[in-house]
Amino acid sequence: MANVLCLSGFDPTGGAGVLADAAAIQAAGAHAVSVLTALTVQDTRNVRAVMPVDLDGFRDALETLIDDVAIDAVKIGLLGDAAQLPVIVSALLALRVPVVCDPVLSAGGGANLVGERLQTAFLNTLLPQVDVLTPNAAEARRLVPNATRLEAAADALLARGARRVLVTGGDEPGATVENLDCAAGRPARRHTWPRLAGSFHGAGCTLASAIAARLALGLDADAAILEAQRWTRRALASAFPIGGGRLIPNRAVNGSP
Ligand code: PLP
Repeated sequence: MANVLCLSGFDPTGGAGVLADAAAIQAAGAHAVSVLTALTVQDTRNVRAVMPVDLDGFRDALETLIDDVAIDAVKIGLLGDAAQLPVIVSALLALRVPVVCDPVLSAGGGANLVGERLQTAFLNTLLPQVDVLTPNAAEARRLVPNATRLEAAADALLARGARRVLVTGGDEPGATVENLDCAAGRPARRHTWPRLAGSFHGAGCTLASAIAARLALGLDADAAILEAQRWTRRALASAFPIGGGRLIPNRAVNGSP
């Protein structure tokens, strides 16, 4: 079994966070293990609070887990606070497996989830360990505020150490969703998908976990990124309501392709 380590927050609705990650990873035929970074208070509309977990417990849980379990890829989502970063970075340096990071900065409902200090520490210490970074357009702009275009933002994130940057365009206007796939030394690629009706909670977690699972299973980054987008699209196409807000991706849809 391929094991994916999820360093993620807990979203009680199961739309985003570790419940979403685990479902996407299982759908791909891999196994999810996890150390939680934060609990959250939220519904399907918005996030009301983020409560980072205890740092000593976080470190202990992570070290205990990776001492025992063979990890094949890591998926990083919502971070609790800047103090978690050195702990995560030393685990990644020890593991040396593909790392997919969805830089969760704000909720689809608008709530800000990450302060200035955590964002700066993320750029300086965690970003250079990331193999595939999956910001949405708003997150890419926030991480590189002086970039004039999304390509420039992606290039700046590559220059700061990410190996590949997939800027998702679900939060941009337009009849299609354009995901911009950038790596150093080659022209940017565009993956274009017809836009689905509806607004989704946890699309980013779903895509990033789907990529991580496919890397854990041995696909190369090109194949993992393409297949994960196809599968995520199907999960979004059959998304369902559980409350009064956004729809939950249906991660029970069949895995690849
Ligand atoms: N809560 C947690 C724990 C998350 O990881 C995320 C996003 O990744 C969110 C909330 C916000 O999800 P969305 O942007 O789909 O509202």
